[in-house]
Amino acid sequence: MGVADLRKLPSVEKLLQHLEAANSGLPRTLLVDAARAAVEAIRERLLRGEEVSVDAGSIVESALRIARTHGTPTLTRAINATGIILHTNLGRAPLSARAAQAVADVVAGYSTLEIDRDTGRRGSRHQHVEPLLTRLSGAEAATAVNNNAGAVLLALSTLARGKEVIVSRGELVEIGGSFRLPEVMAQSGAHLVEVGTTNRTYARDYERAITAETGLLLKVHRSNFVVSGFVHEASPAELVEIGRRRGVPVMFDLGSGCLVDLRSRGLPYEPTAQDAVAMGCDLVTFSGDKLLGGPQAGLVVGRAKFIEMVRAHPLARALRMDKLDYAALGATLSAYLDPSTVWDEIPVLQMLTRSAAELRAAAEELRDALRQRAPGSWQIDVEPTTSEVGGGSLPEAHLPSYAVAVRTPTQLEERELALRRHHPPVFARIAENALLLDVRALLPGDAPIIVDALTSSGTPEGQLR
Ligand SMILES: *Cc1c(COP(=O)(O)O)cnc(C)c1O
Repeated sequence: MGVADLRKLPSVEKLLQHLEAANSGLPRTLLVDAARAAVEAIRERLLRGEEVSVDAGSIVESALRIARTHGTPTLTRAINATGIILHTNLGRAPLSARAAQAVADVVAGYSTLEIDRDTGRRGSRHQHVEPLLTRLSGAEAATAVNNNAGAVLLALSTLARGKEVIVSRGELVEIGGSFRLPEVMAQSGAHLVEVGTTNRTYARDYERAITAETGLLLKVHRSNFVVSGFVHEASPAELVEIGRRRGVPVMFDLGSGCLVDLRSRGLPYEPTAQDAVAMGCDLVTFSGDKLLGGPQAGLVVGRAKFIEMVRAHPLARALRMDKLDYAALGATLSAYLDPSTVWDEIPVLQMLTRSAAELRAAAEELRDALRQRAPGSWQIDVEPTTSEVGGGSLPEAHLPSYAVAVRTPTQLEERELALRRHHPPVFARIAENALLLDVRALLPGDAPIIVDALTSSGTPEGQLR
């Protein structure tokens, strides 16, 4: 064994014959690359003096594995056992059944994306969400773009290019690294005028900063952090009063953009789009896939004349949403028309409001199923834990939840890795020497998959690339 085996390595040609005989259904180009990669990997290991089998059968196996990995889409569904409801890395909001169905209906064929059914002529894609958004928010007009970062960029570019935008120093937020308000502002061509201090900004600070160059007063919801102690901020209503008097429009970037009052379910207040509109804000921007619980989108509601300007801006075309998004957003918004069922229909709202008893029962069920299949040496218990809302929303909300805590005699890290490599992958966390499976953000049907992922022998290390 060792370097001497180099001569015994099958040729790529030979390997390819085996691979094609295996009828994997994978395209030949992938098989050729995989055959090369598999032989090369073994050659390298032999040269390092490792003991590796050069048996053609096992090389074919590993080549097939490589080809399958490369031939499989990398974006797959995943199971969220982290307890973080709006996990940005796991795709934020899961869609409602109605929204998923709407997407499925639209993807399969043609759609009425931009056609007027009465005339048979070109219509507008805005028709699919504007009536819903105006009804739900109380605004005169509404539009939607690719995401909220895009909505803010577009609104600033439209209303304030070459002009000054007044913002409180306490609201110059960064969201998830790639969205920093001063940088978005710079991209839009607007000039940032900071007023107040990190902790205290008054209405009079904005008023004093207004000049002939002022294009906009901007209020930004500090979605993902809190300041407490010696603090003050000007309310949107105060800004609106100043804006009206001085002839300057007021925009409120809500970030998360809720359409229901979370206080009604014992959660912290999150400004709703309808509150912002009622206070008189001229433009209000918010995300589609945060607390709203829909697809990635940036919603803009407000005065008709500003919405028209926003739509007519050249960037609007570059930031427009696609038909799948319209389908999902339209279905999500229509769920909000019935306040009595929306809390059950939208998964994000449902997860936010799951009761302790319900979570505990779900955790106990998962624990029992795991105990049935897991080795006797594992310790599996239900433990109270805290879940987060995530997605830069409701940073103050610490939601009491339940998790199944798994303690194994072997390396927990390996188990956690095996979960991530399972199909579909399961994401959990390790804390206090236990693998914690928080049940809050689990969806129906997830539990048996977790049991499988954790108790099946799993993929041995190093096989997947
Ligand atoms: C999240 C957020 C954004 C960005 O929204 P995306 O939909 O992620 O692009 C902008 N502003 C605020 C205040 C936010 O919280």
